[in-house]
Amino acid sequence: MTAELICVGTELLLGNTVNTNAAFLAEKCAMLGLSMYYQSVVGDNPGRLEEILHVAAERSDVVILSGGLGPTQDDLTKETAAKVMGMELVEDARAKAEITAFLEKRGRRITENNWKQSLVPKGSKVLYNPNGTAPGVIMEREGTCMILLPGPPNELEPMFEDQVYPYLHSIQPEILCSKMVKLCGIGESLVETKILDLIEAQENPTIAPYAKTGEVHLRITAKAASEEEAYGLIAPVEEELARRFGDLIYTDEPEVTLEMAIARLLEQGQLTVSTAESCTGGLLAGRLVNVPGISRYLREGYVTYSNEAKEKLLGVSHKTLEAYGAVSSHTTAEMAEGGAKAAGADICIAVTGIAGPDGGTEEKPVGLVYIGCYCKGKLYTEKNLYSGSRSKIREYSVASALTLLRRAILEEVCK
Ligand code: ATP
Ligand code: MG
Repeated sequence: MTAELICVGTELLLGNTVNTNAAFLAEKCAMLGLSMYYQSVVGDNPGRLEEILHVAAERSDVVILSGGLGPTQDDLTKETAAKVMGMELVEDARAKAEITAFLEKRGRRITENNWKQSLVPKGSKVLYNPNGTAPGVIMEREGTCMILLPGPPNELEPMFEDQVYPYLHSIQPEILCSKMVKLCGIGESLVETKILDLIEAQENPTIAPYAKTGEVHLRITAKAASEEEAYGLIAPVEEELARRFGDLIYTDEPEVTLEMAIARLLEQGQLTVSTAESCTGGLLAGRLVNVPGISRYLREGYVTYSNEAKEKLLGVSHKTLEAYGAVSSHTTAEMAEGGAKAAGADICIAVTGIAGPDGGTEEKPVGLVYIGCYCKGKLYTEKNLYSGSRSKIREYSVASALTLLRRAILEEVCK
C-alpha cells in the first residue's frame, strides 16, 4: 500500500514553523510498511489544497493530512477534503460535547466558530481529541483512505499513536522490521562500494547506509506478514555483511554504542584502561563514562593540555616535545605509554592534535591529530587529518581514538 502526506499551513511554506509532523508521520508510515512516494506542503488556500487532494487521492491508497482543522476562517482542510471525497459535513454530538467540555474546563469562552469543529464528514470515523478541540477524521471511499489530523504536534502525535496507528495496521497487515549493523574504522564510501551489488539487487530486505561521526550504520529492513518472517529474511543479509566486513562490525544491537562495545571487550579481557587527552580535553573519557559500570575498567583520565602537564603527569620527555612537538606520533606514543604506567592500567589511549581554528602551520595544519594506544606492551599510533569546525575535529578525534582502542583490545583479547 502507498501513503502520501500533505501538510497544510502557510507558516510551513514560509519557514516559520519547522515541519516536524512530516518527519513524525513519515517515520510511522515506514514502520507500518506503507510505501511513501510523495509529500507536499500547501498553504491555507482551498483551491490549491483541492488540486493536490485530487492528485493524491488518485495516486495513493492512504492520504494523510496535517493542519487546518482549527476553528478559524483559514482552517479549511476538513471542508476541502470532504468535498474531494464527495461527503457532506454533519454535526457529531460527541465532538460537540467534548469541545464544550474542553473549553469550559479551561475557562475559555465558546465562540460561534467552535461549532465548525464539531462537523465531520458523514460516514467517517471520528478521531476524538483529548488534547485540543479539533477532532481528526478517517474517511474511506472507493479504495482511497483520507486521514485528517490537527496541526499542533502535541495533538497530532497522541492521536496518531492511539487511533491512527492501530487503524492503519489493521488495513495493512504487512509490517516492517529492521536491524542496524554498526561499523567503525571504515568510511561510508568504502562501505557502499563493498556492498554496491547487494544494494543494487535489493528488494526485500533493503539495505540503507547512514554515515555517523567516525562510524557507518547499515539498516537492513524487511517487509513481511510477521516479525519472525521478517527477521528470517534479514538473517542471511546480515550474515553476508558479516562475511564482507568481519570485525569492522562492532554490533548489531540498536542500543549498543561504540563505547558500550568497547566496555564489553574490556570485560571479556579483564583489562583496565586510562585516557591521556590533549585537544579532546576530556571528551574521550566522557564517551567511556557514558557506559554504566565503566568504573570497573576505567582507571584514570588525564587532560594534559600543556606541554608541562604532558611531562609532569604522563612522563613525556622534554626532548621529545622539543624535537617533534606536542602534535607528533612520538609524543602520542609517549603519552599512551606514560598514561598507562601512571594509572597502573593495562591500556592507555592518547590523543594530541590541532583542533583550530587557529594554531595551524603549513607543516602541521588544523585538523592534524595523532592517536596513540598502549596495550600491554604493544604500541599503536595513527595519524589523521580532519576538516571542519573545532568541535567536529574534536568529535572525529574521539571516534578515531575509540576505534583504535577497540582494535587494540580486539588484538589482545583474540590473540
Ligand atoms: P488549530 O486548532 O491550533 O488552529 P490546526 O489543525 O488548524 O490547529 P494549524 O492551524 O495548521 O492546525 O496549525 C496550528 C499550529 O500547529 C501551528 O501554528 C504550528 O505551531 C503547528 N503545526 C502545524 N502544522 C505543523 C507541522 N506540519 N509541523 C509542526 N508543527 C505544525
Ligand atoms: Mg489553525
